[in-house]
Amino acid sequence: MKIAVIGTGYVGMVTAAGLAELGHRVIGADKDGEKIGRILSGVVPIYEPGLDELLAANIQKGRLSFSAELNPVIRDADVIFVCVGTPQHADGSADMSQIEEVSRLIADNLDRYKLVVEKSTVPVKTSHWIKRTIGLHKKTDTAFDIASNPEFLREGSAVSDFLHPDRIIVGVETDRARDILCGIYGRFKDRLVVTNIDTAELIKHASNSFLALKISYINLISNICEKTDANVEQVAEGMGLDPRIGGRFLKAGIGYGGSCFPKDIKALVKIGEDLGVDMSLLKEADRINFDRVRLVIEKVKQALWILKDKRIAILGLAFKPETDDIREAPSINIIRELVREGARLRLYDPQATDNMKLVFSPEPGRLEYFASPYLAAEGTNALLLLTEWEEFAGLELDKIKGTMANPIIIDGRNIFAPAALRKLGFEYYSIGRK
Ligand code: NAD
Repeated sequence: MKIAVIGTGYVGMVTAAGLAELGHRVIGADKDGEKIGRILSGVVPIYEPGLDELLAANIQKGRLSFSAELNPVIRDADVIFVCVGTPQHADGSADMSQIEEVSRLIADNLDRYKLVVEKSTVPVKTSHWIKRTIGLHKKTDTAFDIASNPEFLREGSAVSDFLHPDRIIVGVETDRARDILCGIYGRFKDRLVVTNIDTAELIKHASNSFLALKISYINLISNICEKTDANVEQVAEGMGLDPRIGGRFLKAGIGYGGSCFPKDIKALVKIGEDLGVDMSLLKEADRINFDRVRLVIEKVKQALWILKDKRIAILGLAFKPETDDIREAPSINIIRELVREGARLRLYDPQATDNMKLVFSPEPGRLEYFASPYLAAEGTNALLLLTEWEEFAGLELDKIKGTMANPIIIDGRNIFAPAALRKLGFEYYSIGRK
């Protein structure tokens, strides 16, 4: 089987390298010629632990290559994994134009049977539209199948997630498609869940929305903790020990971000509403998440009163640790609000600085980027921690305190112990606990 992976973003790169690691011949293709050029010159365009090594090893073994020539790549492939973006329209619905574009390309190049696999996160019933598009535009009377194989990798541990999956969902409507996909994922046959295509498509949106809901739920509970003597960390621990609930995704903080949860929950709301289903539950979860920015700003004001010309260090820009991805990161709205209030910001992130510079250009004295957390903290009136990078837990806080104008820490991810911070002489604010 020759496999093509169309779209070499976070998902496509990992899928291409992962499928090659499983022993398949894979070619990754993207319409972004510059991105492909960088990959071909040995530069991995994203930061993802373990990906550089996996790519290099499989390229070297001759199982993996890349190209910006989409037509020949598609013509040559037996199986096409579609990994292009499905961003969000202003009304929350998924923008399917990249999927349509690829469907038309596949139609143009359908010279023998091909299996088209949706790996991107797509609304339920998308396979119908892909099938119709290919059917309308194909130039020969060639058979093809569509399948859904949603991706569950998490940025920051994507390689390990691909190679050690909890489950692999395979949505198919023919035996031929089922056999091909079950063959490709043969190594994981004990973890394969075969469904129809609508079900597979919905599993992905339902999973992400549930996780987002869980985060908003604990954030709602943390709002109650803030007004009482309850401690949200202990509430979450006590809840999570119940195996029916589980402790993961019960971390109170500044809310979810990234390229998936915010857009996927909105997309599912739109899908449901278009089908006449009342989606208030998920709308409320999304609203609670949006409100986290206001909560953070309130905490900063509680500490500093007037923000104009206050110097604030921000540690952590990425939407979560171990990634350079800032798409829909809560840090963006928080920075925007602090800039609007006239604060002077000193930013640091281990990996995401270059991406953030594309959103907020450096402006001397007003918004600056630093190469270390210690430099960012110098002379500041408060330090705001927005991403729980491991290196922040190991900071030499005494050193930081010595250089800050006021020893105030606002910890949006509860990475420090309140008693220890106060013992060190910090005024310390965190989420849902005193
Ligand atoms: P991305 O934006 O990083 O990558 C998409 C890539 O597709 C880009 O490189 C773009 O140039 C390319 N592309 C767009 N149109 C194309 C076309 N017509 N032909 C060829 N290439 C084209 O996106 P991503 O984060 O990799 O996400 C891809 C999909 O996977 C989305 O549906 C997303 O919701 C889903 N997903 C993402 C994650 C994640 O953590 N990033 C996890 C699971 C699922």
